[in-house]
Amino acid sequence: MIQKTSLINGISGQDGAYLAEYLLSKNYRVIGISRNNSLNNFHGLKYLGIRDKVEVLHIDLSDANQCIELYKNFKIDEFYNLGAQSSVSYSFEYPTETIQYNVLSVLHILDAIRKINPESKFYQASSSEMYGKIDTLPIAKDSALHPISPYGISKATGHWLVNQYREAFGLYAASGILFNHESYLRADSFFVKKVIKSAIEIKKKNLDVLRVGNIDIKRDFGFAKEYVKAIWLMMQLDQPEDLQVCSGTSISLKQIVHYVFDHFQLDHDLIIQDINLFRPAEIDDIYGDNTAMKAKGWTYDYTFFNILDILIAEELQNDGIRG
Ligand code: NAP
Repeated sequence: MIQKTSLINGISGQDGAYLAEYLLSKNYRVIGISRNNSLNNFHGLKYLGIRDKVEVLHIDLSDANQCIELYKNFKIDEFYNLGAQSSVSYSFEYPTETIQYNVLSVLHILDAIRKINPESKFYQASSSEMYGKIDTLPIAKDSALHPISPYGISKATGHWLVNQYREAFGLYAASGILFNHESYLRADSFFVKKVIKSAIEIKKKNLDVLRVGNIDIKRDFGFAKEYVKAIWLMMQLDQPEDLQVCSGTSISLKQIVHYVFDHFQLDHDLIIQDINLFRPAEIDDIYGDNTAMKAKGWTYDYTFFNILDILIAEELQNDGIRG
């Protein structure tokens, strides 16, 4: 069988590492893109034991010429665009960086595909944050996009670019609309990882309390390791299609903190709501519908409490190994 070449933008991120592992298991050649491969230590790839199996290129996708050169130099079968400024909170502080990179990277790669290799397939990491102000749940295929953060706006724009290039130029371009998904490789600044790490530190008496923002909000949380399998499936269909990847139910951040604190037998009084950590605008509740994705062959039957058990165990197993 001829080996396919995949390219992952965002190889140093959570999904990049798990997707690389999954594609290697399917005998793909995996090339990663990083914005700073001299500074990055590719912790995720090393953790999974695959750093030496992935070639890494240093390319700035906000430069259209670099995207053209990339497509001239490599015959890419499947391009997975996971690289993005991915934090909603950070996007309120740095809207220009968020919108500039998250939009231009999508546009430049789609345009390089159109010009150099229209056979190359393109996956875009869209986000449930595009929906923002929501009328009805679960989110449906035809739910209106009404983003309420710079991050949501950047992802909505990328999403429409994918639609436009698919419809106007007939490219195999598809957006996975992913809802929150977690793993041991999630960056420390994200909520679930922060709660688990803080609980461990409080237990060890290295930290007094956990400071949180608005924990009454609800989100649809899932497991990154399983979500990358849906991402790959989306690139194997007869026709490209935008699909939701989600658990299909939501839980509140308060339920998550309480579950983790109960696991470590910590008093709930140690959870302090800090008004300074509230976002300027927030989605109250959101969950999706994974029926269409499951109809394509994706299986998923975790509750988020199952996943919290896995994440707590993995964090404890690695405690002290990673700073
Ligand atoms: P992640 O761990 O934050 O990884 C993001 C990747 O993008 C990293 O490789 C990072 O490189 C790169 N990156 C960040 N800011 C950049 C910038 N300004 N310029 C160039 N590269 C930049 O994200 P993830 O959780 O794997 O998510 C993968 C994709 O899915 C992202 O596009 C995210 O927006 C989207 N998504 C994620 C979720 C979720 O719950 N995880 C949900 C919906 C959609 P460095 O290592 O150099 O920072």
